Amino acid sequence: MKPKQDSVMLVLSSPSGAGKTTISKKIQQKYPDFKISVSHTTRKPRPNEIDGVDYHFVDEKKFKELINENQFYEYAKIFDNYYGTSRKSIKVLQEKNYNILFDIDWQGTQQLAKFKDLDLLKIFILPPDKDELKNRLAQRNQDKEEVIEQRLQHYSKDIMHWADYDYVVTNDNLENCFKQIEKIIAEKSSSPITNLFK
Ligand code: ADP
Ligand code: 5GP
Repeated sequence: MKPKQDSVMLVLSSPSGAGKTTISKKIQQKYPDFKISVSHTTRKPRPNEIDGVDYHFVDEKKFKELINENQFYEYAKIFDNYYGTSRKSIKVLQEKNYNILFDIDWQGTQQLAKFKDLDLLKIFILPPDKDELKNRLAQRNQDKEEVIEQRLQHYSKDIMHWADYDYVVTNDNLENCFKQIEKIIAEKSSSPITNLFK
C-alpha cells in the first residue's frame, strides 16, 4: 500500500460506542478530501446502515474466500464477526488522492502498522467513563441488549491498547474532541489539504 506524498492515513480506534463513527463522519463531511475506508464485515447490518456505505456486508463464506485470495490488508475477528480492510477499497481511494480514514480496532491497527511505508496517524478515542459508554451504546439504539453487554465486556481489554497509538483523546464533549483531532491532523501534515485545519 503506497500512499501518495503527504496524504494522511488516519486511524481511529476506541472501545465500541466511544464515538469513532460519529467523529469519522464529521471529518468526512467537513473535509471532502477525507474518505472513510469502507470495511467488509460478516456482521448483520444495523437498521440504519447501508451496504456499500457503512460496510460491505458479506457472509462468512465470502469473507473467508477473500482471506484466502489475500484480498485484505488486515482483518480481525471481533465480537464473533469478521471485519477487514480490502486492498481494492484502499486502492480506489489512493488513486483519487484522498486522505484515508480507518475506523478499525487495535488488532487491525497493529497489522497496518507493519506496512512500514505507510505513515499512519493513530488516534485512540476514550469515552469519559464506562457508565457513559453504556449510555451511548444504549442511546444509539442499534444493538440488542446482549450485544451491548458483550461490547461492554470488551471495554477493559480494548483500552489496554491505547499505548499503540500516537494520541489518546477523550470524547467527552463532541465538539471539543473533534477540535482536538483537527489540531492533531493539522500538526501532522503540511499538505495544502490539511492546512485547512489550521
Ligand atoms: P463507535 O463508532 O465508536 O462505536 P458511535 O460513533 O456509533 O460509536 O457513537 C455511539 C453513540 O454515542 C451514538 O449514538 C453517538 O451519537 C453518541 N455519541 C458520540 N459522541 C458523543 C458525545 N461526545 N457525547 C454524547 N454522545 C455521543
Ligand atoms: P461495529 O460492529 O460497531 O461497526 O464495529 C465493531 C468494531 O470493529 C469497531 O471497533 C470497529 O472499529 C472495528 N472495525 C470495523 N471495520 C474494521 C476493519 O476493517 N478491520 C478491523 N480490524 N476492525 C474493524
